[in-house]
Amino acid sequence: MRPNVYITRRIPDSTLEKISEVCQVEMWEEEDVPVPRDVLEEKIENIDGLFCLLTETIDEELLQKAKQLKVISNMAVGYNNIDVAAATEKGIFVTNTPGVLTETTADLTFALLMATARRIVEASDFLREGSWKTWSPMLLTGQDIYGATLGIIGMGRIGESLAKRAKGFDMRILYHNRSRKEEAEKTWGIEFADLDSLLRESDFVCVMTPYTEETRNLIGDRELSLMKKSAILINTARGGIVNEAALYEALKQNKIWAAGLDVFEQEPVDPDHPLLTLPNVVTLPHIGSASIQTRTRMAELAAANLIQGVMGETPQNRVNHA
Ligand code: NAP
Repeated sequence: MRPNVYITRRIPDSTLEKISEVCQVEMWEEEDVPVPRDVLEEKIENIDGLFCLLTETIDEELLQKAKQLKVISNMAVGYNNIDVAAATEKGIFVTNTPGVLTETTADLTFALLMATARRIVEASDFLREGSWKTWSPMLLTGQDIYGATLGIIGMGRIGESLAKRAKGFDMRILYHNRSRKEEAEKTWGIEFADLDSLLRESDFVCVMTPYTEETRNLIGDRELSLMKKSAILINTARGGIVNEAALYEALKQNKIWAAGLDVFEQEPVDPDHPLLTLPNVVTLPHIGSASIQTRTRMAELAAANLIQGVMGETPQNRVNHA
């Protein structure tokens, strides 16, 4: 009997074919709507493998319904949407897609940093709405990137790729991490700093940690108050790491200069969210890893993890010991 798997969104045809060669596949076909909870509750009962996205909340209550589930393959590197402890308790592997999205996400993070510093979106809107009357010395002036100080919170795979890019811009690079990264210090000339010093000294602060109990609201009112008035905060990690109410106040009161956000506490973000009313915020709809090549690679890696899990092997990218 071929193992049963459920895929919670349409994936590239070539990846679907690979999974279908070994598994009995059912898939949620709608592109723009996540699988409803009641459908997932029904499906999870009799499947051996689940291929899911960060839009699905895989909590203990849902996992209690699973009778034969062996693997939950998340098509993302972050897996804060899954109760890993509950899965482990039930002997279910949880897997992610690390590595294949590192450079693409670092590219987007740097793009967001540059767009925010140089007011790219605001300037483009200014032109399109017919406000451009003449060249003017201080018109739409931004912040220098070249030679500035970049503070990276979370010196993991993406953090290090960001440092690599920043080095080309002659930036001084500070980092804060749970553990020291001595190899990266040597390779990229980065300096370890405690969180408060990093916040005080950086012109740009990039948040690159996973979203965990420990990092929830890591950047709140106190932390934002430590930053320079001219500083820019970039978050392409996860929404809950930065307290949005505190960020709104800090931006409104000019405690910091601007922010670039790819992620939000609630996604999709409410179009009436206060942060979206501020001109000094550049916002994106969680597209860090969204290149054609990388999304294809992520789907393939998630498929490989799924197949390994349902075939009784230990998946290559497991995040738990089931
Ligand atoms: P990673 O290699 O696991 O790096 C995470 C780093 O954060 C590690 O170096 C870790 O330190 C550090 N860290 C963890 N908790 C910390 C804390 N409390 N204080 C300081 N540092 C802490 O992960 P990655 O591949 O770089 O990805 C990072 C995150 O980016 C993912 O978890 C995901 O949520 C997010 N992401 C977003 C997008 C997007 O589309 N916007 C795309 C990809 C990833 P240790 O080494 O000491 O544990």
